[in-house]
Amino acid sequence: MAVVADHSKNPHHHGKIEGVEQINLNNPTCGDVISLSVQFDDEGVVKDIAFVNSGCTISTASASMMTDVVLGKSKEEVLELATIFSEMVQGKEDARQDHLGDAAFLAGVAKFPQRIKCSTLAWNALKKAIDAQA
Ligand code: ZN
Repeated sequence: MAVVADHSKNPHHHGKIEGVEQINLNNPTCGDVISLSVQFDDEGVVKDIAFVNSGCTISTASASMMTDVVLGKSKEEVLELATIFSEMVQGKEDARQDHLGDAAFLAGVAKFPQRIKCSTLAWNALKKAIDAQA
């Protein structure tokens, strides 16, 4: 799981975006917290994204991987990826997992059910950000 460790140690898009409201979410079962900033363009495409967090390796790595893969994607594409990711970490096989980029490396989370919420925290924060836009 070297890819997971790399993302956890050096998370991508770490920080916040000036002038964008942060979405805060936590995972009480593990103690993971995330503050996500997402900027959409007029077409609803993710133009910029950044997060600050405190949490376990899986939650940090997942947030980093998520920001990489959703940048430049439309809200519809993001929601589809979030669904594919959520099903993957619950053990469901799907060819579309190839579209998840590095996040596909978290498929192994399915073997550790107590880690599922760690891995989906960032994605749930992103869904909340999209809801807030609607
Ligand atoms: Zn966790």
